[in-house]
Amino acid sequence: MRFLETLDRTGKLEDVTSVRVLLYGSLAKTGKGHGTDIAVQLGLCGEDPVTINVEIIDAKIQDIASSRKLILNKRHEIDFDPGEDIEFLITESLPFHPNGLSFLATRKKNDQVAETFFSVGGGFVVKEGENEDTGNGVQLPFPIDTSEELLHWCRKTGLGIHEVVMENENAWRPEAETKKGLLRIWQVMKECMYRGCHTEGVLPGGLEVTRRAFDLNKKLIGNNKYDDYDSWVAAIRKGGRDFKYILDWVSCFALAVNEENASFGRVVTAPTNGAAGVIPAVLQYCVLFCGEEIMTDEKVIQFMLTAAEIGSIFKKEATISAAMGGCQAEIGVSSSMAAAALTEVLGGTQRQALMAAEIAMEHHLGMTCDPIGGLVQIPCIERNTMGAIKAITASQLALRSTPDFAKVSLDAVIKTMWDTAKDMNFKYKETAEGGLAVNIPLGLKEC
Ligand code: SF4
Repeated sequence: MRFLETLDRTGKLEDVTSVRVLLYGSLAKTGKGHGTDIAVQLGLCGEDPVTINVEIIDAKIQDIASSRKLILNKRHEIDFDPGEDIEFLITESLPFHPNGLSFLATRKKNDQVAETFFSVGGGFVVKEGENEDTGNGVQLPFPIDTSEELLHWCRKTGLGIHEVVMENENAWRPEAETKKGLLRIWQVMKECMYRGCHTEGVLPGGLEVTRRAFDLNKKLIGNNKYDDYDSWVAAIRKGGRDFKYILDWVSCFALAVNEENASFGRVVTAPTNGAAGVIPAVLQYCVLFCGEEIMTDEKVIQFMLTAAEIGSIFKKEATISAAMGGCQAEIGVSSSMAAAALTEVLGGTQRQALMAAEIAMEHHLGMTCDPIGGLVQIPCIERNTMGAIKAITASQLALRSTPDFAKVSLDAVIKTMWDTAKDMNFKYKETAEGGLAVNIPLGLKEC
């Protein structure tokens, strides 16, 4: 989209005759499995990931491949052969970040327009030569880079974490708008869980992984009848609160989201797509099993605000990109975000929430990224169930603890995660060149 904006702004889009896309580093090595080539084509077509009808993606991609034509930004047809015009440069990496891609547009007079971008994690994109947009100079009442600073503002104001975060959000937009946006995100998460639990079949990509949320949902729901999201939720609640029943549902929610992600359905990046199942699964656990009466829309908003702040601190002080830090930066961070949010929503203090975030990350430290075949399926899908359960356990531990006696702070664990990321062999940073990715031959059925 940013490249199209450049072409549009400079009045060059209508003169473009062809576009080439070069993928570097991790984007090249795992690009096929991650659907980067698909995302690039949809982006060039001017499709918006938030609003695109995901049902038409397959047909659209097939149409481009067979016609070798692409409608640039929905209005200007160019020749485009995905097999030729998207290059996976697996032996090359750009110095700024392992997730690099360049667009090269050729115009009628044979001159070219080229721009390079970096996907730095969590949907954030940085253009070569520019700094990451950190807020257009907006002055926040409570500037926060570290968890200690967050705690400082909580102590100074007496506000909860979510309240401090909301005050900062108010510097960008009216509170009502923030709340509406957060509830919209929760709605997308709910739709994703529901769709994932009601879609059967095999995931695309050649690994022949069978979707499991569909069967698990059927087994757990038993003979209870339902015909939409609300009656589904009511049917789940009817099953009670047995430990194993809850455990199964948390796994089911996480599986559902990540099976949707693996089949290019709509998910909420939280903080990344590979780890998109943890936060919905933990929030759904809270809504369904922690007391219907307490889980109002307001509580959902609080959960989101707190989770977002923890993710933001990880991004500022370490990374949320697996290409930089392995899976600890994806599943570890999502688990940490969910743990803090759950703790606060369940009545924990600010320090207990930060303690929960610390515990959740502490037990993901060093976790590598080694997706088989570069597909976000094994170990990724199950890994979300683990991240969700660890978040719940971390929250429970923190709620039963006195943070005064904690030996490890959240900031210390974030620094440790970053140190570990820097020491980690490149094979384990979203390259599909180490771990399970080399030990499990492609085509082996999921165990
Ligand atoms: S192993 Fe983890 S970090 Fe790597 S693609 Fe899968 S979920 Fe993402």
